[in-house]
Amino acid sequence: MIVAIDGPAASGKSTVAKTVARRLGYHYLDTGAMYRAIAALAIRREVDLHDADALAELAANEPVTFSYEAGDPVQSAVWVSGLDVTVAIRTPEVDAAVSLVARVPEVRTAMVAQQRRLAGGDNAVVEGRDIGTVVFPDAEMKLYLTASAEERARRRHYELSDAGHAVESSTVREGLDRRDAVDSQREASPLAVADDAIKLDTTGMSIEEVAQRVVELVRGVR
Ligand code: C5P
Repeated sequence: MIVAIDGPAASGKSTVAKTVARRLGYHYLDTGAMYRAIAALAIRREVDLHDADALAELAANEPVTFSYEAGDPVQSAVWVSGLDVTVAIRTPEVDAAVSLVARVPEVRTAMVAQQRRLAGGDNAVVEGRDIGTVVFPDAEMKLYLTASAEERARRRHYELSDAGHAVESSTVREGLDRRDAVDSQREASPLAVADDAIKLDTTGMSIEEVAQRVVELVRGVR
């Protein structure tokens, strides 16, 4: 069974999806990490982020892969072009670049094909922006997580500070707003709520509460 979890930046998707995958013993696929990996590689190779052809070529020729510790469905590392980009994909630079990469239709085609291969045919929790609408439109369980803009900015600011990046909270909020605007307004598979998705507003909820709710929903349809 595929559990598709979509939603805007810092809506709690990743933490919830990881918790649910571990609890149910399902595979986990972080599709945002794949777009981030291509963005990190583009920055490293000094590819112009407005050069759609160059970005498309990168995505078509440089598959993104994950490695795992035994017994854990959550990846321990993210790789592209022989580089371990696990840390590099979580920087403010990649935050600012990734939506420009992800809006290129050919980049998405390459990523979606890989995502279906990486998760398909098995029990998996797959999180991103277009999982329920495009990648797995027949997913048995579709969730759309949201939270207020203030709460999302607070969560993201905490994550960045925790990882040692000194950024102002107002800068974090502006960055999230900009990323969500590009992700929702792009032509190629924009962030959208699938017709058959269950919407969960996680404002004021703990990760544990949201994860528990999702596990109950999944068990209800199994
Ligand atoms: O989920 P995360 O915030 O790490 O995603 C980073 C970016 O990757 C998003 O802002 C979006 O531009 C892109 N993305 C996407 N489609 C997905 C997952 C992520 O366009 N399925």
